Formats: sequence, C-alpha cells, structure tokens
Amino acid sequence: MKLGALEAGGTKMVCAIGDETGRILDRMTIPTDVPSVSVPRMTAYFAEHGVEALGIGCFGPVELQEHSPRYGYITSTPKQGWRDYDIVGAFAAALHCPVGFDTDVNAAVLGEAVFGQAQGLSCVVYVTVGTGIGAGIYIEGKLLHGMQHPEAGHVPVSHRADDGYKGRCPYHRDCLEGLASGPAIEERWGEKAALLADRAEVWELEADYLAQALTGYILTLSPEKIILGGGVMHQEQLFPLIRRKTTEMLGGYLQAAALGDMDSYIVPASLHDDQGILGCLELARRALCP
Ligand code: ADP
Ligand code: ZN
Repeated sequence: MKLGALEAGGTKMVCAIGDETGRILDRMTIPTDVPSVSVPRMTAYFAEHGVEALGIGCFGPVELQEHSPRYGYITSTPKQGWRDYDIVGAFAAALHCPVGFDTDVNAAVLGEAVFGQAQGLSCVVYVTVGTGIGAGIYIEGKLLHGMQHPEAGHVPVSHRADDGYKGRCPYHRDCLEGLASGPAIEERWGEKAALLADRAEVWELEADYLAQALTGYILTLSPEKIILGGGVMHQEQLFPLIRRKTTEMLGGYLQAAALGDMDSYIVPASLHDDQGILGCLELARRALCP
C-alpha cells in the first residue's frame, strides 16, 4: 500500500509517503502558510507519489463527528485562514482517495500503539507539552472522540499558593495549559524554557502541575501507559519528578502492577519524533481498509 501522511501543525506541515508497516519512503516539510498557499503544495506532493489513501493528524479543535455536516473541518483556531476550514474536503477533492482524520495528539498515540512502545496495550494516554498542552487517548483499538475529542490539556489544576503567575489560557486562565505550557513557563520566569534547565524550582513547579493532571487521567481512564512528548519534555529531569509526584498524589490507593514500575509507566515518546507521522500512516491505512 502506498499511503500518505500529513501532520498538520500551526507552524509546520510534515508530509510523508509510507506503507502499512510504518516504513517511511519520503518526506517533505513546509511552513504553515494560509491554506491557499500550503494546500496546493501538499496535494501536488501526494498526487505525484500516487497515494492510495491519506491520513491527517491535525491541530485543533477539529470536527470528528462523521454525521456532522462539518466533519473534517478545523473549527475555532485563531490561525489565520484555517478557521472553519474543510481540510478533509480539500484533500479528498484533490486526491480522490479515502482520507483518515483525527487530532495531532490522537495520531501520536496511535503511532505509539501500532508501531511503538505501546503495542499490545488497551488504554494509552499521550500528552504533548509544548506551545499548548493536549492529550490523545487510545482505548481498545480506537481513538477516543466522544462528543468532540478530549481537551485534557485544559483540565483544572490546583494553583499553587507559592506560584504568583496568573496563567495564560484565554478561556480558563489557570488551567493546566494556562500554567504549564512552554509559553507559560517562559512568561512566568522571563526566559526561554530551554535556558532554564538548571533552575530546579522551575521544573519542580512544572512537574507538580503535570502530575496533578496525570493523576486525574490515571484515576479516570486507568491507562496502562502514559507517554509524554512535546518541546518542554526535552527537559528530561522532569520525568523522575513527575513520576515521584504522581505516586505521591495517588496516595497508594491504586494497587495496579504497572504503577510499581513508574520508570516504564510514565515515559518519553519512543519513535524519534515520528510518532505523529506514523500515526497518520495508520489513519490512512484504516481509511483504506476500515
Ligand atoms: P508545538 O507545540 O508548537 O508543536 P513544541 O512541542 O516543540 O512545538 O513546543 C514548543 C514549546 O516548547 C516552546 O514554546 C518552548 O517553550 C518549549 N521548548 C522547546 N524546546 C524546549 C527545551 N529544550 N526545553 C524546554 N522547553 C522547550
Ligand atoms: Zn484552558
């Protein structure tokens, strides 16, 4: 099978050609411009390679309800030109092939579940901590959509009394994303997050907010593994802090064996930053052979 994959992000569009085994044969990355500029370049690329199906993992919010007249649309993004944009329709019309569609984070968890460290598991959560915070949820072979799709980056967290930063989420101010995204770290401490590596207090606070959210995800979804990716998670010192705080916050209530080995329970992404694009290949495969 010759499959196309598109990881559609707010700053760049990663396109790849591959097959159902997760082999990537070619790739092309372009900056995200307005659709009238970016989309024709991408459709030309996929058409030239003769893909049989395309999978798109997209920045959101997106409409995933197949019965909705707006299925396949990017909905309320502030990104210029992409608001209320029918991305699935645009690619389907140009390529005349099946198009699979999901959120970027759902594509990432699918990549890990099919090709990476989460193979064989039935419930997996993938959290990206970058410009925003988002979570993809893989559950019994499927990606969780529900009424729309999870927006677990916006869960409320307890705002620490010693944190004077007000939070930056335009909707909730001090939700998880408002307090713990890369831009929140940079606004709070007045420095690029990558340059704060040796400031212990930065990562202790960051780990606290992330552990609060993870504790909620664990108690709600009972995942067998939690994978953390995104730019902020390049700070590897966060992992032991998050594992320790999550264990403390769970308070010994859950007796699951997986929690006895936190080093393999809360883990970094395993596919060299290809988890998203590989998940898009799988979305394409599923669109071709449902
Ligand atoms: P995006 O979320 O836009 O897809 P990233 O996941 O790379 O992209 O996240 C970008 C954010 O991650 C930046 O705003 C920055 O704050 C943060 N970031 C990037 N690199 C690092 C690093 N090495 N250490 C800490 N934070 C980083
Ligand atoms: Zn929010």
